[in-house]
Formats: sequence, C-alpha cells, structure tokens
Amino acid sequence: AKKQGRNGFAFFDAQMRQATEQRMQLLKDLRIAIQKQQFELYFQPIVDMASQKAVKAEALIRWQHPGKGIISPAVFIPLAEETQLILEIGEFIFASACRTQKKLMSAKHQVQLSINVSPIQFSSKHSRLVDWKTHLDELSLNAEQFVIEITEGLMMNAQQRTQSRLNQLSKQGFALALDDFGTGYSSLAYLKQMDTDFIKIDKRFVDGIADSADDLALCEAMIMMAHQLGLKVIAEGIETEAQHKQLLAAGCDYGQGYYYAKPMPEKVYLDFMNNATYG
Ligand code: C2E
Ligand code: CA
Ligand code: CA
Ligand code: CA
Repeated sequence: AKKQGRNGFAFFDAQMRQATEQRMQLLKDLRIAIQKQQFELYFQPIVDMASQKAVKAEALIRWQHPGKGIISPAVFIPLAEETQLILEIGEFIFASACRTQKKLMSAKHQVQLSINVSPIQFSSKHSRLVDWKTHLDELSLNAEQFVIEITEGLMMNAQQRTQSRLNQLSKQGFALALDDFGTGYSSLAYLKQMDTDFIKIDKRFVDGIADSADDLALCEAMIMMAHQLGLKVIAEGIETEAQHKQLLAAGCDYGQGYYYAKPMPEKVYLDFMNNATYG
C-alpha cells in the first residue's frame, strides 16, 4: 500500500509540474502575442428587444495563436490579470474599439460599443484608464458612445482608487454596465454604490426561462427592480425565440445572444451593420 501511495504521489507531482510548465509556456506566448499583435476584437451585436435593431455591440477579444488557433479569453485573461499584462492588452482593446467606432460613424451607424474592463485596470497605479477621455477627444469621439462593462469582482474590496476612477469615468460620460448580474455576492449593494446605467442579466438565468418558472420569476424581478432604479436591462446568452419572446414580454430592454448574432470579426460586423435589416 505504501508503494502505491508513493506512486500516486509521484503521478500527482508530475501532473502539477506539467500544469506549471503549460502555464509558463502560455505566459511566454502571451508576451510574444502582445509584441506581435496577435489579438483581435470580435463584435457581438446587442439588439433593442422591441425593434430588433442592433443599437449596441460588445467587443470581445480573441487571441489568434500561431500554433494553437484561437484561444478563448476565458483562458488567457485570468493569466493576463495575474501578471499585469492586462494593462497593455486593455489599452489595445480600447484603441481598437475606438477605430471600429470611427468606422461605424463613417458608415452613419449610431452604435454604443461595450468594452470589458478588468478590475486590475481600475486598481493599478500604472493603468492608463484615466487618459481614455483625452484619447477620445483627439479622435473626436464621445465617451457616451462607449459602455464600460465591469463585474461585481471589481466592487469586492474596492479600494479608494477604484471607486474614484469609476466616478471619474462616469463623470466623463462613459456609460457603465454591471456584467454577469446576479451571479456574485451583494449585487444589490453595489448598484447603490456606483452610477450604473445598465445591468446585464447573466446567461445562466436566461437559459432556464423557457422551462423553469423560478428562472423566469428571477428575470422578471431583476428587470422590474432595475427599472425602478432607472436602469436599463441587457439579457445575455439568448439562444432561442422562446427566450426572446419571454424576455420581451417581461419588459427587458436589450438582448444579446446567438439567437440574434454571434461575435464576429470587425469586417463581418461592419457588413452585418450595413445590411438593411439590422443597421
Ligand atoms: P462576458 O463578458 O460575460 O462575455 C459574454 C460571453 O458569452 C462571450 O464569450 C460571448 O461570446 C458569449 N456568448 C454570447 N452570446 C452567447 C450565446 O447565445 N450562447 C453562448 N453559449 N455564449 C454566448 P467570450 O467571448 O468567450 O468571452 C468570455 C469572457 O472573457 C467574457 O465574458 C469576459 O469576461 C472575458 N472577455 C472577453 N473579451 C474581453 C476583453 O476584451 N477584455 C476583458 N477584460 N475580458 C474579456
Ligand atoms: Ca461582458
Ligand atoms: Ca452614466
Ligand atoms: Ca456576461
């Protein structure tokens, strides 16, 4: 039995080492990716539920790895956050979204672009978030043309710097959205603390609404409460017509999900917008 245990331990040890090596390799690749600009923003339309016009879009980052193909942000964003590389990636995201906004304007599309901003970009001394408004001024863009998506993780243990940057962005005219609403702790308390414009109902609530009375009731309650607080609601991960209809009936303002459109490269997104049905 002793021998077996030792073998088991050796096996676990090898697994640990392999995981660490994979992480180190990914980090090495991530540094190269920044230098070689292997990132690209995809855009997923967000529709006005009543008219189904694509009046907003969320920018979602993709990493085109030369050997491994597209790597999901769910994999590399956490690593980028742990290593502060998110600060540089975050600047790329903003600059890139600005360029797309200019193209949308040239094509006469009025779209509010959502950008995901990491808590690190709020808390770090080295973050250039504070210069974004200046960059917009230089490009003749307005802060009102952008939504900053933040998660509840931002507000947990939020330091003074985070809170003041949040206030500053809001004062500058950026809209704020609380992402993955309802999945974290004390979501409601945070709503009071910050000047939110939108809440985004998480996909896991939307998933069940067609066949679970509880999930439908939860969505209805979130929508009602948001409206009473003067906020608009975006439902995420809408995949079926049934979900669309139920959320529309519940008074949800905006919808995002495969039912309407998947995230797409900028060029495809601009073509999508130029199509008379959506633009
Ligand atoms: P998120 O901000 O909650 O983004 C929504 C995710 O849901 C996206 O996954 C999107 O592709 C996916 N999605 C949208 N509609 C549907 C649907 O109908 N069905 C299903 N199954 N999925 C749907 P994605 O692009 O893989 O991003 C995953 C997460 O990575 C994001 O979650 C966000 O937390 C993070 N992320 C993505 N882009 C960025 C970025 O530019 N900056 C930062 N800081 N984080 C990002
Ligand atoms: Ca988001
Ligand atoms: Ca506002
Ligand atoms: Ca979300």
